[in-house]
Amino acid sequence: MAKRGHLFIISAPSGAGKSSILSAILKKDPGLRYSISYTTRPPRGKERDGVDYYFISDSAFRKKIDAGELAEWAEVHGHLYGTSARYLEDSLDRGHDILFDIDVEGAKKLYAKYPEAILVFIAPPSMEELKRRLVERGTDSAEAIERRLKNAKAEMAEAKWYHHVIVNDDLAQAVSELKAIIEQVRSQG
Ligand code: 5GP
Repeated sequence: MAKRGHLFIISAPSGAGKSSILSAILKKDPGLRYSISYTTRPPRGKERDGVDYYFISDSAFRKKIDAGELAEWAEVHGHLYGTSARYLEDSLDRGHDILFDIDVEGAKKLYAKYPEAILVFIAPPSMEELKRRLVERGTDSAEAIERRLKNAKAEMAEAKWYHHVIVNDDLAQAVSELKAIIEQVRSQG
């Protein structure tokens, strides 16, 4: 039987630069697999179904909850997001390391089920910088930005129970910090 893979759970307030860090690390490290979540949120910008998310309806999502197909799920910014239990278990059984991009509530639930998971929190340099990035991204309405900023404050308070916190001041630096964490975990078996 293959050695079980590792779970790397990454959380960050939106606008902390998590997507850029994750796409960079996934390019650099072919041994890492990305867990594509289900969401009821509509696609944003250039997002593609089956690549960034599986975009599904509210009722399809509820069916997955009832059928026990989600390892965890949470409501974030007014939409539902969840992790495929089968993808997670299959990947781990095959010895693949998986990267999860999930919110703090989902991270807590997954950690309770998989206490061997490694939790990494990505923080923006400051709340002012976070607001600037969200406005610059231009993909959210003013109302959505306000909601994301309010949530960000609550999310930042949760960083304390993560194993690692990376402050994303500089993208290359943040990516190499995450890479070092992953390498360290792998070297321990
Ligand atoms: P966004 O709408 O900006 O793509 O994501 C909003 C939030 O939902 C982010 O904090 C992201 O980490 C979280 N998220 C994405 N997928 C999942 C998931 O499967 N489960 C949970 N709990 N949160 C998720």
